[in-house]
Amino acid sequence: MSKLGIFDVSVRYGKVPALTEVSFTVEEGERLFISGSNGAGKTSLLKAVCGAVSTTHGRIEVDGDMLTGQSPEAIARLGLTMVPEGREIFGTLTVEENLRVGTGIRHDTEAIETDIDEVYQSFPILGERRHANAGALSGGQQQMLAIGRGLMTNPKLMLVDEPSLGLAPNIVDQVYETLVNLQNERGLTLIIVEQSSSRAARVGGRMVLLGGGKVMGDGDAATFAESDLLKEAYFGQD
Ligand code: ATP
Repeated sequence: MSKLGIFDVSVRYGKVPALTEVSFTVEEGERLFISGSNGAGKTSLLKAVCGAVSTTHGRIEVDGDMLTGQSPEAIARLGLTMVPEGREIFGTLTVEENLRVGTGIRHDTEAIETDIDEVYQSFPILGERRHANAGALSGGQQQMLAIGRGLMTNPKLMLVDEPSLGLAPNIVDQVYETLVNLQNERGLTLIIVEQSSSRAARVGGRMVLLGGGKVMGDGDAATFAESDLLKEAYFGQD
């Protein structure tokens, strides 16, 4: 199970409010897009969930376990993983070494080998290039590697920050196809930061729209793509 509950969560960086009393819940197996303009608080929200920034108010729970105040390692053990914006691949390590970096919290060495093989089954190109330096991969392949590395902690809930960033539209199609397939195969819950509401609508799922650190809307992505709320969130807010 991996039901996520976010209740009245606020995050500040010094005097700068990044999130103000944000609340919503995510059900097991759901696909949720977080959308909104630059600075809306999308990354801060993902970071708060995985423990990379502290909350100043509110609480975050997964299946009733309190995440707020726990270390990122403890949160990873509860089945959450984050695939960061910009991918944060180690370019001078090989593809396989990058996957092993994702196993830092695990001690089950045999299962790690099985999981590496499973990542190669999901992403054959990574298997073919397992001994290549990750820096030599294309942007799309690096995004696949970042997702593959996230899978190495055996997550139930994956938070993916802007997987489309800097990729050509046809490569973005492939990345989303892979994410949807992984979700179907593994029953993952996915929370994806995606600035393009039309992209979110095409992939399908629920959307939480952030503006100025607050929830401006919560509903079906396809419905949002048509609505005025979206224009307001992008252009009407502070
Ligand atoms: P983007 O699409 O540009 O990544 P975002 O929606 O992910 O934006 P955040 O990165 O969460 O938004 O930023 C929310 C607010 O917090 C912004 O006003 C931003 O300038 C501020 N902020 C983010 N990180 C920091 C930081 N480390 N120190 C100070 N302010 C920050």
